[in-house]
Formats: sequence, C-alpha cells, structure tokens
Amino acid sequence: MLERDADIVIIGSGAGGGTVAKELAPLCAAGVRLLVLEAGPKLRDDEFTGREVEMASRLYTEEGGFLTADRSMTLAFGRACGGSTVVYTGTSLTITEPTLKRWGLPDLSHNDVLRRSKKYLAENSVHLLDERDINDNNRLFREGCEQLGYRVEQFPLNLRGCQGAGLCNLGCPNAAKMGTHRVQLPEAERQGVEVVTNCRVDRIEDRAVVATVTGSAVGEPSAWPDGEYRVRAKAVVVAGGAIGSPALLLRSGFGKRLPALGRYFTCHPALILVAQHDQPITNYAGHPKSYYCDHFAESDGFLLETCMYFPFTTAKSLTGFGEEHSRMMAAMDRLQMILVLAIDPPEADNRVTVDRRGQPVVRYAFSDRVRRAFVMAMRASARVFFAAGAARVHAPAASQFFIEASDAPRIDDLIPQGGFRLGTVTISSAHPMGGCRMGAARADSVTDTWGQVHGQPWLFVADASLFPRCAEINPYVTVMALADRVAERVRREWPTLRAQAL
Ligand SMILES: Cc1cc2nc3c(=O)[nH]c(=O)nc-3n(C[C@H](O)[C@H](O)[C@H](O)COP(=O)(O)OP(=O)(O)OC[C@H]3O[C@@H](n4cnc5c(N)ncnc54)[C@H](O)[C@@H]3O)c2cc1C
Ligand code: SF4
Repeated sequence: MLERDADIVIIGSGAGGGTVAKELAPLCAAGVRLLVLEAGPKLRDDEFTGREVEMASRLYTEEGGFLTADRSMTLAFGRACGGSTVVYTGTSLTITEPTLKRWGLPDLSHNDVLRRSKKYLAENSVHLLDERDINDNNRLFREGCEQLGYRVEQFPLNLRGCQGAGLCNLGCPNAAKMGTHRVQLPEAERQGVEVVTNCRVDRIEDRAVVATVTGSAVGEPSAWPDGEYRVRAKAVVVAGGAIGSPALLLRSGFGKRLPALGRYFTCHPALILVAQHDQPITNYAGHPKSYYCDHFAESDGFLLETCMYFPFTTAKSLTGFGEEHSRMMAAMDRLQMILVLAIDPPEADNRVTVDRRGQPVVRYAFSDRVRRAFVMAMRASARVFFAAGAARVHAPAASQFFIEASDAPRIDDLIPQGGFRLGTVTISSAHPMGGCRMGAARADSVTDTWGQVHGQPWLFVADASLFPRCAEINPYVTVMALADRVAERVRREWPTLRAQAL
C-alpha cells in the first residue's frame, strides 16, 4: 500500500465537498496540505456530448438507476468531479424559515443559513431568466397554475451563457451551469488544493483514510497512479453525499458508536406526468425548469415543478405498453411535462445500510402520507394541464391510459387513491438527504450542528446527509450553506486539530 501525508482530506467534490475545498483553500498559503479525493472522473469539455445513454454512464452512479432495496424507486446521484452539481438542473432556492423550524435545531438560525446561501447565489451567478427565454412547456405550466389560483413562482437559476439546449441533467455541453466543477473547485485548485479524481475512499481509520485509484476510460488522468493508498490526515471531512457518506462511515465501523448513522434518510420521491396538446409546443429548446408551485406543500405535502426529460427517461417513466405508449412517445413535440415531488417525513427505518461487501443499500418505505400526496399531486397536475389547454393527460395512477379534456370534471374519480400501486408507477429521486443528520444527542443524530461527528473531534461531515429532515425545496444551495458552516468550524479549530495530531 502506498503512503501519503496530508493535513486535511475532503472526501467527495460535489455541492458539499467543493464548497469546503474552496472555503479552506486560503489555508494552503500557510503551508496546509489540502486534498480532495473524488471517486468519479473529471471530464474534458469535449466529453460532454449530451448523448443520453453515454452521459448517464459517465456521470451517474449506476447510470442513474441505483435501486432501493425493494426495487420500488431509483435514486439518481452524480459520480464525477463536481458530484451531482455536474448533472443538476441548477434551480437555486434557499430554505424557508418554517422548514428550518421543523428541523428543530435551536442553534441553527435561519439568518445564518440565509446569509451563507446568499453568498453562493452570488458566487454561482444565480438569476431569473428573461421572459423571452421561457419556453412553452414552462409558460403553459405558469398559465395553468395562475388560472386555477395556485401559487406559482419562477426558479432562480445558476447559469452563465445558457444556450437553452435542455441537456442540464446530462452535464451541460456548453459549460453554462455553475456547478462546483466550474466555480468552487477551480478556485480551490488555483489556491493550491490538490484534487485527486478516480479515487474512491474505501474506509476511514483514526486520522487516516484508505483509498483506491482506478483508471477511467473517460476524463483527465488522475493526479495519482493507480493503486491503493493510505493517507494520513489531521482532519477528515466526509462529503460523499447522502448515500456515499453514511455508507463510508458504516463500513468504517462508526455505526457501533452512532446508532442514528444511516437513518432518517429522505429523498423527495418523484414521478412525472405528461399531457398532449393538439399542436407542437416548444419543450426541448430552452432551459427545462423555470417554474414551480409550492401551493400544496403545507397542506398536502407535495411540490409541482416543470421538467422536460429526454426520450429514454420519459419512455421508462410513463406507464403503459405497446401501441398506446409508442403513439404517445411519437408525439414528443406536443408533450407538456410536470414533475411531482413528495415531501417525505424523516423515518428512522428509512435508511442507508451496507451489504457484506460494504456497498450501499437503501431501505425505503413509502408512508401513507407520501402515497396520498402522490395521488393529490397527480390530480392537481391534471388540472393544471387542462387549464393550460391540453387535449389529454397521462397520469401514472389513472384508471385509463389517457384522461380526455372532456373528462376533466371527473379527475378525482379517474385518478383514484387505490390507483397508486408500488411497482406499477415509476418513482425516482434526485434529492437524497439525511443519514448523518445533525443534532444534539448521539442517540438520534450523527454530528453536531457544525458537522462535527459526535465523539470524533477530527472527523466532519459536510453534505446533504447532514439534513435532519428533508429540505422541502430543491436542496443544493442549503447543502452549500451547511458546508460553508462546516468549513468555518474546521478553520476555527485548525490550530487545535493540528496540535492534537502531533
Ligand atoms: C439529476 C439531478 C438534478 C438535480 N437538480 C437540482 C436542482 O436543480 N436544484 C437543486 O437544488 N438540487 C438539485 N439536485 C440535487 C443536488 O445536486 C444535490 O442535493 C447536491 O449536489 C448534493 O450535494 P452533496 O455534496 O451532498 O453530494 P454530491 O453533489 O452528490 O457529491 C458527492 C460526491 O462524493 C463522491 N463520493 C461518494 N463516495 C465517495 C467515496 N467513498 N470516495 C470518494 N468520493 C466519493 C461522489 O462520487 C460525488 O461526486 C439534483 C440532483 C440530480 C441528480
Ligand atoms: S439549458 Fe443551459 S444550462 Fe442546461 S444544458 Fe442547455 S445550455 Fe446548459
């Protein structure tokens, strides 16, 4: 095994890890050696081809099709230099005060999270699109919501030079999306942080990590030759995401001292609905996600968002087979699409575990509230489609393949509560959260509210796994705000951490 020395090791380079790397980078000027170890590759600009199947295998864990243990939901999360920020859509919302109150952490104030969030909104060029850049798919959603009196808001987006190619979830081919690979990591590297790609951390030991570098067919070569490494460090920051971080800590043996490790996993389970218009609408061209509706968040526990997925993802996300299904896909240029996200409660038994090989396994059961939310959301979406002028709606839990506009008054009957049956509806999630939740006590949390692991002064967590409950909105800005807080704590404690390691 090859030996390496560092001062601070950051595991993962996504919204959390990239932020910590940039915030700690000024320490390099004082001779502190900072390393980012990232399992995924760093793609060259010409490798962002926008081809659906190719990019899914280059940028996602298990090509975006990681299944929960009972195979009822797929989880999409990135595996690349920049983590999921390479494939995210870039909607940039800040967590609300009521949600933060529900998190129940008295020493994490909304002002603190908001102040830090605003820093990243500015750093990532977040702004609202001009009206001329809103395509029909988004405009129709807004108009439908407005007609029904549903509250609808425009998404702020983190774009610079967006050309409206609609390929955000395949990694932007135009370098227009301001993920950590475009903003925070290059800045960290300029200041002296070393980023080692294709480097998977296998386990964490006392003030050390064991990692394996394996060559990749795509991307720039790793900074280190292939092989197994033991890297000694005075502090370790785990930012492998809400599945990667709990799994890594569990296979390193921390579960014995931390009973909440891996538990309280939430993920905003999601599904899509489509509606057919009689005439073509712009849906491929333009940024895919400009509006959301949080009208039902408090009352019924769901959000509606615009979206437009690629043909393969769309085809696999719809129900039905054969002739009907292929006719609908053939009319792709007339489809309007809505993404439904359920606000899922934190349940101790929804959890990340590891199998005998140390690989993550996610156990997730859909609560009655989430099942009900899905049906209510499908009914609300169908109403939005018809209010926007759609001719027919395809809802996964409906009793018939298409609901025609003439049947709109019978939506509640045609999308019955019993129509939602696991295994027949395609459910996916792109917002894994929790598993290393913050809190006061070891019994029901893994870290304190500054990301320091209970009982391990040299070990920190800085990613979406810190969330004690779900974010109730798209989460990446909150991940960055919390990572900023963790970096502040590491900086403050650095003299002590250095002394303790000697
Ligand atoms: C398709 C998609 C669209 C999204 N759209 C939005 C959006 O529009 N707005 C929004 O707010 N959020 C969005 N999200 C969610 C957002 O991207 C995530 O919440 C955020 O990136 C999570 O940050 P993180 O640091 O926890 O994990 P990630 O960003 O996922 O980073 C984790 C990194 O750690 C690496 N890693 C894991 N384990 C190890 C290990 N053992 N060794 C080394 N490296 C490891 C992984 O390879 C990965 O690169 C989207 C996500 C997806 C997948
Ligand atoms: S819509 Fe904009 S951000 Fe998304 S892939 Fe196209 S150019 Fe990139």
